Order: sequence, then C-alpha cells, then structure tokens
Amino acid sequence: MKKANAIRSEFIQFFVDRGHTFVRSSSLLPIGDPTLLFTNAGMNQFKDVFLGTGTRPYKRATNSQKVLRVSGKHNDLDEVGRDTYHHTFFEMLGNWSFGDYYKREAIQWAWELLTEVWGLPIDRLYATVHHTDDEAAALWRELTPLPAERIMRFGDKENFWEMGETGPCGPCSEIHYDLGPEACDKGHVPGHRCGVNGGCGRYVELWNLVFIQYNRKADGTLEELPAKHVDTGMGFERIVAILQGKKSNYDTDLFTPIIEEILTLTGAGLEREEERVAVRVVADHIRALTFAISDGVLPANEGRGYVLRRILRRAARFARNLGAKEPLLHRLVPVVVREMGEAYPEIKEQAEHCSRVILAEEEAFGRTLDKGLALFADLSRNLRAEGKKIIPGAEAFKLYDTYGFPLDLTELMAAEEGLVVERDEFNRLMEAQRARARAGSQFGGDETNVHWEIVSSGTHSQFVGYEQLQTTTELR
Ligand code: ATP
Ligand code: MG
Ligand code: MG
Ligand code: MG
Repeated sequence: MKKANAIRSEFIQFFVDRGHTFVRSSSLLPIGDPTLLFTNAGMNQFKDVFLGTGTRPYKRATNSQKVLRVSGKHNDLDEVGRDTYHHTFFEMLGNWSFGDYYKREAIQWAWELLTEVWGLPIDRLYATVHHTDDEAAALWRELTPLPAERIMRFGDKENFWEMGETGPCGPCSEIHYDLGPEACDKGHVPGHRCGVNGGCGRYVELWNLVFIQYNRKADGTLEELPAKHVDTGMGFERIVAILQGKKSNYDTDLFTPIIEEILTLTGAGLEREEERVAVRVVADHIRALTFAISDGVLPANEGRGYVLRRILRRAARFARNLGAKEPLLHRLVPVVVREMGEAYPEIKEQAEHCSRVILAEEEAFGRTLDKGLALFADLSRNLRAEGKKIIPGAEAFKLYDTYGFPLDLTELMAAEEGLVVERDEFNRLMEAQRARARAGSQFGGDETNVHWEIVSSGTHSQFVGYEQLQTTTELR
C-alpha cells in the first residue's frame, strides 16, 4: 500500500516537473486578510496575485496547504463524523498558474496524474463543468476518453467557486470518483439517488480546477480581473483513500494510527455507529487542534479562539461518550506529530505547547462536563415524557453559562435526540448578558476584555454569536 506521505510527494513532484515552484503551506491564520477567520483553501496565500495587487517571482506554484473549514462560507463542522469524507482540518493539494497556462493544461495534467501516474480506472471518473463553460466541456472531450455523458454541467452552487463573500472567483471544473454502490451512506433517506454532487459517499468530489477570472466585490458585483489564472484544490485525504483502496478517509494511514490510539486509551470498539461517529470526530478534531494551536491560535471566548474552544469541547464530549473519564485529547498530540511532523515541522516544534494548551482546556471543561451532560439527559428525558421537541433557550443558556457548553454542542446533542434548541430565547439571554458585561466592565470600553478572558476558566464567557464570527469586527 502506498503511504500517504509518498502520495503527497508524488503530487508535488509531478507539478515541479512541469515547471511549478514548490511553495510551503501558509499558516492556518490568514495574514492580513480580514475577510477570513481561517485559511480555507490553497489559493488564500495567492489572493493578492490573482487580484493583481501583488506578484511572485514565479508564474506556476504547487503545494499542500493546511486548511480549516469551520467558519464562514466554507463550514463543514456539522458534517464531520457523520460522513467519512468531510474534515474540519484537511490538506489541500494544489497547482496554480498566475496568468500563465489556463484550462487546457489544467485539465490535461489533472487527467494525466490521476489516470497515468496513479492509474485510476477511467470508467470511475466523472468531470463537471459550469453550465456556461463550453470551452472546458470541449477540452474534456478532446483531451480525455471520457464519454459525453460523464462530462456533466452544473450551476453556480457546484461549479462557480468563491473563497468568501468577496475575493477572487470563477467557474470551475471538477473531477469526481465513483467508489461504488457500497459507499453510499444515504440509502436510508427516502428518495435518495446516488449521483455526482448527490451528497452521499458514493461519488466523491476529488479535485476542483478553478478558472479564476473575476473579483467578487463587496456590493456583490463581479469585476473582471486583469489576467486569467488557474487555481486547483484536491482533497488529500480523499485521494489517499482512493489510492489505498479504502471507502472511508478514516481507514487510511492518515487516520488509523490516531484511531488505534483512541481505541487503546478508551477501551472503546467500533461495533456501533455511535462509537464510529465519536471516534471519527475525535480523530478529526485532534488534527484541527494540533495544527491550529501550532499556528498560534489559543482557545478563547471569542473570535478564532472560540471556534477552537468549540472544536475542543465537541471532541471532549465525544471522548466522554467513548468512556474517557480523564483528559484524553492531549495524549493524542504525539501521534499526530509522529505521523505528520515530517511534512509540517511546525507541529513538531510546538508539540509540547499544544499538549499543554489542550490539557488545560480539557481540565477546565472536565470540571463541568459531567454535570452538564447530566442536566441535558434530565432535560431530554423530561421533554420526551411530555411529548415535546423543543429545548427552551433558557436551558441551553444555562448549559452555556454555567457548564461551558457552546450552543453548537448543545444543538448537536439535541439533534442526536431528535430535539431542537429555541434559539431566539437563547440569543436574547446572551445579548442581555453581554450588555451586563459591558456595563460592568472596569476596563472602560475595552470590549475585547482581554484581561478577564485570560484569567477566566472559560465557562463564563462573553458570547459572540458564532454565526457572526466571520465579520471583520470580530477580528480586531
Ligand atoms: P464538497 O462538495 O465535498 O463539500 P467542496 O466543493 O466544498 O467539497 P472545494 O471548495 O471545491 O470543496 O475544495 C477543493 C477540494 O477539497 C474538494 O474537491 C475536495 O476534494 C476537498 N475538500 C473540500 N472540503 C473538504 C473537507 N471538509 N474535508 C476534506 N476534503 C475536502
Ligand atoms: Mg463543501
Ligand atoms: Mg462540492
Ligand atoms: Mg468543489
């Protein structure tokens, strides 16, 4: 079996051999870009080149980029664990042309790498194009043996790529792979039919070739860029799964060492679906935590730090479901570092710091986790007995304020029980608390309340609506 680390190298070598400069992954913290909380695609670090405001000493680049899709336009947090191919943190393999080659070479090389170098069976592959992109559709016909019916047209939702509310964007052409009917995970959904972009595990989206030619402006209009560029992104964990003959990303060597450690430390098994979901969440989240903390994020009560805290608390709750009575997450850091430290030396350097930060958070949340879980269990039992389905906002607020349960964690637990949280009431209570905090602040209008935040164990936090986290005001 070809190792993940070898697959990453082969991708980069393939493009280096075709005149691309290897550029290191940028940080998960976008530098100088107030429109993003976390790096969400390989192209982020080249945004200025696309916009024509910056230059590089090369016209072609390739890399493997660390990305985190937990906020803003690209947010996969709720899929993670439920399916086997969306992660919070993942690696995006990419190649770029800055005003150099365009659609022809992008398609030609993607096809060559997948089918000639890696030998993927042609009859499993599908291409998609933007419904207006006759040029790309014609190139797929000309350059590959794909029959017309496997070159499919989709609208903006699937085939017009944008990094955020504003910024470089353009029509895209994607490659999807048919893992076979057994990989469908939506068989139980009435009316489900497997298909490309059909939302089940069977047809996996592998590689997106974006033809960057516009800038989306703040007023929503598109402005033609000075030059045309290529920006591609391939899901590394997904290609590794395919090349290793696995149906799930979690069965690749990127995850199995972490999962083995989780099973050893908890004594849990993988017999039940709840266990499998929990193991996937913990394995996913520990990678996100390790990489984000290594890049300088710290758990906090707002902004990026609160996203991290929410990820950690989700993971801690799922670890508890697996039977972990003691802090467990920090003990997984060494495995992540062992497996990925070669490709990303920064996590090696920060390993101890990471473990320490995670342990402190686990201990803080651990003090209230069990009580919060007990409260939630009572609550859902009572609601069920009364035939009700709605968790009052005041109860969700109590879980938040007294027990440190972020709203999204409460909502996730509610969903598992077929319940929903009454959000309006929750938000009202949260707003009232913020107003009180502002009025009572001794720090004269310092809304970030930095001092208080550091000494706080985190359960009495100043809430920032997480749906607003992407706004620039939260990024002060
Ligand atoms: P999907 O439709 O599967 O959510 P996407 O269209 O949102 O993917 P793109 O923005 O096109 O993804 O990103 C480029 C590639 O990155 C995708 O083709 C896919 O292989 C991979 N990818 C996207 N999101 C994830 C994720 N959450 N976890 C792992 N890989 C991902
Ligand atoms: Mg997506
Ligand atoms: Mg998609
Ligand atoms: Mg896509």
